[in-house]
Amino acid sequence: MSIAVIGGGVAGLVAAWELASAGAEVEVFEAEDHLGGAVCALPMASGRITLDAGAEAFATRSPEVPRLLEDLGLSAEIVPPHPGPAWLQLPDIAGPLPAAGVLGIPVDPQAEDVIRLIGPEAAARAAEDLTAMMTWGAEDSPTLGAVVRDRMGDDVAEKLVAPIASGVYSTDPDDLDLATAAPGLYAAMLSHGSLARAAAAIRAESPSGSAVASLRGGMHRLPAALESRLRALGVRLHLNTPMDSLTDLDAQKVLLALDGPAASALAAGTVQVPQLTPRPEDDGAERGVALVTLVLHAPELDARPRGTGMLVARDAPHIGAKAMTHITAKWEWASRHLHTALGEGHHAVRLSYGRISDTDGQGLGFSSTDEQLLQAAAGDVSALFSVDISPECIVDSAVVRWQRALPPSAAGHRRRVQSFRGALAAQRAGSGPQLWTAGAWFAGTGLARVIPDARETAREILTST
Ligand SMILES: Cc1cc2nc3c(=O)[nH]c(=O)nc-3n(C[C@H](O)[C@H](O)[C@H](O)COP(=O)(O)OP(=O)(O)OC[C@H]3O[C@@H](n4cnc5c(N)ncnc54)[C@H](O)[C@@H]3O)c2cc1C
Repeated sequence: MSIAVIGGGVAGLVAAWELASAGAEVEVFEAEDHLGGAVCALPMASGRITLDAGAEAFATRSPEVPRLLEDLGLSAEIVPPHPGPAWLQLPDIAGPLPAAGVLGIPVDPQAEDVIRLIGPEAAARAAEDLTAMMTWGAEDSPTLGAVVRDRMGDDVAEKLVAPIASGVYSTDPDDLDLATAAPGLYAAMLSHGSLARAAAAIRAESPSGSAVASLRGGMHRLPAALESRLRALGVRLHLNTPMDSLTDLDAQKVLLALDGPAASALAAGTVQVPQLTPRPEDDGAERGVALVTLVLHAPELDARPRGTGMLVARDAPHIGAKAMTHITAKWEWASRHLHTALGEGHHAVRLSYGRISDTDGQGLGFSSTDEQLLQAAAGDVSALFSVDISPECIVDSAVVRWQRALPPSAAGHRRRVQSFRGALAAQRAGSGPQLWTAGAWFAGTGLARVIPDARETAREILTST
């Protein structure tokens, strides 16, 4: 059986490994000069250090990513982040994020750390959720914002939930499909009669320990490990090979492991499928984010003054970044790596730009120049840490832009993706090449969703006739 995999991100690589391990003849076609897509290495300080350019962790709520890492012999390399919480920067106050919660929804609306951030009145409004009648029903498919505003009030939606939605999904909670963001939370709310109790139930079901983990040395070790396994199995890996047509492929089966618009454009040349071109109501499918990584000599940061990093509320004055990760405070391996390579007192931070409200050209984001982003980052890092970090402290900097790597998260997107996959399944029953899709646009964003979906799709390909 010969199979072509188009797209060498994690989805394509995981599927290719599953297929090749089962004896299929596999070729991978990747547009860029490296594999891994959004999971990729970022060399800095003249190659003396390597950090992650994109994804830096995986969610531990499901066992699927650890299982893959075990299969790759990387179990011993899995590391948790530093246990301290991230912080939240609100317009008038900064403090650690409430300890217990789901997407910023507090499990205990009147906990001390919630009151500290949003004030007693807003916390009392949030607590109404525990007793208010449930007006939502199983037939509704609301956004995260609509549910939080209704059950807990605007303050929780805007101050606690919006910074997380913006940081994780690059979107506003009022545009974020609740079922996409937190599968199971809506059903739990209906059965418990409260959003806070639903969040508590979801937390209780999650494995104990940290919600995320990574690999010692960085997440980019995952595609590197997959690449070496694929080479060992004789899989042909074609880099610098952007595919714009499927017509010259010899393969009987083709896996499109790329973003939705690219997958649907490729499929459309061969079969009749609905197009997945971004639409305005997709909540900015072409939006993208820009990440600025700074390597600093700043011993003041040794004490981790803002925990593992900060999420920034959209109306926090004079701060352009929507989030900041203090990489060397979050990951012990990164701290050691910088100390060994550059000396004590060195730190790495990563600032993200591209709030949904900034796409009107007012704020900084994907389309800003490197100069604009670097200038903003230098100011933001001082403001967020409340420490004066002078330009001479910046040892190195890098700007990385990500565009289609973050799929839309509105409800319409889920339905379109389901109908696209359905159309491919119907087409496979007929004659001609058989097509499948995998990847974040289809499975949902994040490695915990992409990896099991890619493995399952590969098994479907192997068992199809
Ligand atoms: C900045 C950032 C941070 C993230 N952080 C996290 C995190 O901490 N934890 C987490 O779980 N997830 C994170 N994610 C999400 C996660 O990285 C993605 O969901 C996942 O890596 C997507 O994998 P993929 O293979 O579906 O897509 P991609 O990684 O986008 O791979 C698709 C590949 O297809 C290639 N391609 C596109 N068009 C063509 C073509 N025509 N021909 C050939 N090749 C083509 C691309 O070059 C790319 O390599 C992050 C994403 C980004 C962008």
